[in-house]
Amino acid sequence: MSVVGIDLGSLASKIGVARHRGIDIITNEVSNRATPSLISFGVKQRAIGEPAKTQEISNFKNTVGSLKRLAGRVASDPEIADIESKFLTASLCDAQGTVGVKVKYVGEQQVFSSTQLVAMYLGKLRDIAANELKSGVCDVVIAVPGWYTEIQRRALLDAAQIAGLNCLRLINDTAAVALGYGITKTDLPSEEENPRHVVFVDIGHSNMSASVAAFQKGKLTMKSVAFNRHLGGRDIDYALVQYFADEFKGKYKIDVLSNQKARFRLAAGCEKLKKVLSANAEAPLNVESIMNDVDASSKLKRDAYEGLIAHVLEGIEAPIKQALAESGLTVDQVDSIELVGGSTRIPAVRQRIAACFPGKTLSNTLNQDEAVARGATFACAMLSPVFRVRDFSVTDITPYSIKIQWAKTPDDDDSELLVFPKGNTIPSTKILTFHRKEPFEVEAVYAEPSLLPGTTNPWIGKLTAKEVPPVDANGELPPVKVKVKLGLHGTMSFEQVYYEEIEEKEEPPATMEVDGAEPAKPKKKRTIKKKDLAFVVGTSSLDSSIVNTLKETENGMHAADKLVMDTEDRKNALEEYIYDMRGKVEDRYAAYIQPQEKSALLAGLQDSEDWLYTEEGEDATKSAYVERLDALKKIGDPVVARYRETEGRLAAATQLRDTI
Ligand code: ATP
Ligand code: MG
Repeated sequence: MSVVGIDLGSLASKIGVARHRGIDIITNEVSNRATPSLISFGVKQRAIGEPAKTQEISNFKNTVGSLKRLAGRVASDPEIADIESKFLTASLCDAQGTVGVKVKYVGEQQVFSSTQLVAMYLGKLRDIAANELKSGVCDVVIAVPGWYTEIQRRALLDAAQIAGLNCLRLINDTAAVALGYGITKTDLPSEEENPRHVVFVDIGHSNMSASVAAFQKGKLTMKSVAFNRHLGGRDIDYALVQYFADEFKGKYKIDVLSNQKARFRLAAGCEKLKKVLSANAEAPLNVESIMNDVDASSKLKRDAYEGLIAHVLEGIEAPIKQALAESGLTVDQVDSIELVGGSTRIPAVRQRIAACFPGKTLSNTLNQDEAVARGATFACAMLSPVFRVRDFSVTDITPYSIKIQWAKTPDDDDSELLVFPKGNTIPSTKILTFHRKEPFEVEAVYAEPSLLPGTTNPWIGKLTAKEVPPVDANGELPPVKVKVKLGLHGTMSFEQVYYEEIEEKEEPPATMEVDGAEPAKPKKKRTIKKKDLAFVVGTSSLDSSIVNTLKETENGMHAADKLVMDTEDRKNALEEYIYDMRGKVEDRYAAYIQPQEKSALLAGLQDSEDWLYTEEGEDATKSAYVERLDALKKIGDPVVARYRETEGRLAAATQLRDTI
């Protein structure tokens, strides 16, 4: 069984695995510790992660990123249509009620929903982890932004299921970071002492969060969280691209923004420049053959840079101030300020954060790129039976208030109830009481829709109680109880509908003969029995039949990708054999090959080489390559065997001579 934690980044994702000696962040097929969050749809196959990055420029119309920003959203939402689309080159469209992309894949125009895209990408991360662990990957914890709503969370859970992953928890990235911090600290205050208060600020590629957590030995309590959903490195890159595109219009008379490939080249140059500016006061920008054979170059000083990104820097303060205010702490009560996320490497960003904490210094105790993945992996280890992890309790909180509403009856005082107010702990269970003579419905909705991302529908779920309890011994209807839960994933669910039946039983007392004493009276014992009532729920999760269909589709595409890769692999093996044997029959194997064998083998090698250059051989099936290689090996293998046998004997003889 595997224990895996995933930080699904908007730019790149990181994977942690738990091992007996601790947690490792693993590398992908090209030895990178972060895998681009990209999918590129090709003529023959999908490229996911690193190979998608390689094709991004040449195949931009069919390449999709920002996966975590699209999950659970709708195409018509202005946040998607106007903001996300700025960072995407594939066309967005509606896909069964959620946002999707229209791409050309295996020669056909196809539409994939954001849920499918996330599933494809999670499948790639699964394969990377499986390759590292040399076993199947099943149990995972995935970190998501704390501002994710019910529908986004359920979309991610659906995607995990489609990818064949068992998601033990969707953990808020804020909680993952705090967990990773707390669980490794051995010097936390005890229960009796004041907790250690830490502010975590994470500024990544697309969003920022500020959270305040209280730590004591063995536990972490999240006190407040605040976000800016649209603040990160990509906004800085965007501002730089606009600036240089404008400069190049005058300087080189080229319109970079009108040419998508030129824009990509400029964006890559700007990201490099941005990183250089994090460590230097000035940075050069060089983009060879950006367009129209122009080699563009420029430079930027840090002052000018900070002016260009002032609007981004200005957004940093508000979430930090909000988180501090909601935590009820003063700056003096903050013990440490920990920075996470790639964009906190920017000196001006750090200055803005530091300005919120006069007199304090910022810390970098955590690995700023990998803290989320490490925390998610710890969370997975804690939930999995495979490892015994030090006891550490995590109390997270929800950023949005949830209310339950219903059609008012004469028995009701109200028609709604705030069940989980903002700041309510996760996980948490509440019980609501209803007086009903007939089956009824209740709905869960977010109480403040204006706080939700874009135009997110505040609807969370619906419960239909199919039956009501029978009248009791007094001829009255017992109240109906509805159990609602804010679960570990941060999703809300209707767990149970029941009523309580009170049974009173007389229990004869234990007898003890005492002369002259009156016999003891029998005692009445009250027991409360919960009797379940039938109910059905409606949620924003996909129906299991749809999940299964999408799973089949995904498995089909995965198998097709694998076949393309295996075919390529066998073709390479055939090519390699031809060149290798042709050289060796003249040299290493010359003494072990009969003249007829040699001419047959050389003819076979030539024939296959010629065939590889034909249209048929260029693009044949896997079995065609395998058959050819097998046929050649039939002649070649006995030669190789003879050589090895003689070599072996010679080696043994030498060893014998040396030992005598
Ligand atoms: P998010 O959390 O927003 O989904 P992410 O987790 O993918 O995004 P990170 O890996 O935390 O993002 O950070 C990536 C961002 O940090 C990119 O925009 C990258 O350009 C930026 N970045 C990385 N190193 C530096 C640096 N030295 N100077 C400036 N920016 C940097
Ligand atoms: Mg991140």
